[in-house]
Amino acid sequence: MKILFVTPELAPWVKTGGLGDVAGALPAALRALGHDVRVLVPAYPAMSKSFPDAAEIARPQPLGGLLPTPVLKQAFAPDGMPLLLLDYPHYFDRPGNPYIGPEGRDWLDNHLRFGLLSRVAAWLGAESSTLDWQPDIVHCHDWQTGLAAAYLHYLPGRRAKCLFTLHNLAFQGLFDHASLFELGLPDAAWHIEGIEYYGYLSFLKAGLQYADAINTVSPGYAREIQTDEEGMGMAGLLRVHAGKLSGILNGIDSKAWNPATDRHLATNYGVRRLELKAANKSALQAELGLEQRADLPLLAVVSRLTEQKGLDLLLEVAPQVFALPAQLVVLGSGTPALEHECAALARQHRGQCAVTIGFDEALAHRIEAGADIFVMPSRFEPCGLNQMYSLRYGTPPVVRATGGLADTVVDAADPKHGNGFVFGPATAPALLQALRRATAAWRDPVLWRRLQQHGMARDSSWADAARHYAALYQRLTGSP
Ligand code: ADP
Repeated sequence: MKILFVTPELAPWVKTGGLGDVAGALPAALRALGHDVRVLVPAYPAMSKSFPDAAEIARPQPLGGLLPTPVLKQAFAPDGMPLLLLDYPHYFDRPGNPYIGPEGRDWLDNHLRFGLLSRVAAWLGAESSTLDWQPDIVHCHDWQTGLAAAYLHYLPGRRAKCLFTLHNLAFQGLFDHASLFELGLPDAAWHIEGIEYYGYLSFLKAGLQYADAINTVSPGYAREIQTDEEGMGMAGLLRVHAGKLSGILNGIDSKAWNPATDRHLATNYGVRRLELKAANKSALQAELGLEQRADLPLLAVVSRLTEQKGLDLLLEVAPQVFALPAQLVVLGSGTPALEHECAALARQHRGQCAVTIGFDEALAHRIEAGADIFVMPSRFEPCGLNQMYSLRYGTPPVVRATGGLADTVVDAADPKHGNGFVFGPATAPALLQALRRATAAWRDPVLWRRLQQHGMARDSSWADAARHYAALYQRLTGSP
């Protein structure tokens, strides 16, 4: 099948979270199954710099509304993946994070920037395209691409089927009514069964409403978001569309995240050479200025520092955690308040706590390898990648029983399959109790080795997820 993968992030070049990782890995896994995949992504500075020889292949027009005519360029990733770079410098040649300007606020024209991405995706998926390559499926991701489903719906003639993947329901792409005209959408779309959402235009709702199928990145999250508690205001709509909603668990990039070959590590190791993991712990302690203590459990967080990730719960119990005793490393960036609180914690507990504010891929790898226990107290978690990296790195995770965390981590109480620690309520005492259980288990080498082995043996490769996606595409197109 021919698949157009439409994404606002693409690892390793542009990534703010799990969506970037998925876009960087799933297309390759689909190609390995024999499918013809091309990835449409804005020509952010990181893309243009990495692919200076990208060649113009089209000028999509007319796109309607106030949308400009961009240049579509083709390049090839090192693995041969064809990339379609959406080049319109006025929108995309901006430094830093793809969504946020220098003052930390969303760019004011995000509706036009991601409206253009969506519109060009639809242009490519319909008869309007001037390319000699016509996709069977337009596969969209999160609110930034949700409008593609609406545009496809309203375009005349033959069109590709549209799959909309939800990586996070919390980001809904809400803009005011005037954007309907700017984006060249018909007035007919402005109603409750269209893209209107409490007086706003919602990119996310457009995706849910008009896509031929919707999926989320874990079966657990697909169930949870249909409940009023976890549906972020979309539960009713999702229940109406339950028949086209499913969950497919993400994989991980098992080449990049392999402790046996990871070039970021002080020492490589595997399930048969687990004793070598200790060298990564002492190297990490040295790197981050922690006391060189092999006898203390080292807890770790690598995360966006936001309310979703439940780090306020960890901050609340931090004094008790240090008294266990245990060490803590945090790598993350996010809301200024959480960044400040984490940094203050490190100042108060020098030698026992190290906090790095920022985004550092290499350090994330060294933390996964060097830590003993990974902590993810998320309030909600569509899939979560870090717990899967932790499992693979022999660093049992402590997670809250939600979404993809509950689908991947099995509590140590299960002697046959246990690979981590799972707690229920999103409260500080529940987290503390789980951390106590984890640190106690860490002091039992036989039990600990078993947990590590179960986690490291888990198959989290993309091949399995890609087969599920291929089956979903096949159902949508009716192909055998
Ligand atoms: P989300 O997409 O909600 O942020 P995920 O667990 O699905 O959460 O994916 C997060 C991804 O981003 C992982 O690959 C994680 O390692 C990475 N990550 C998050 N924060 C940082 C950071 N500060 N430095 C390096 N990598 C980070």
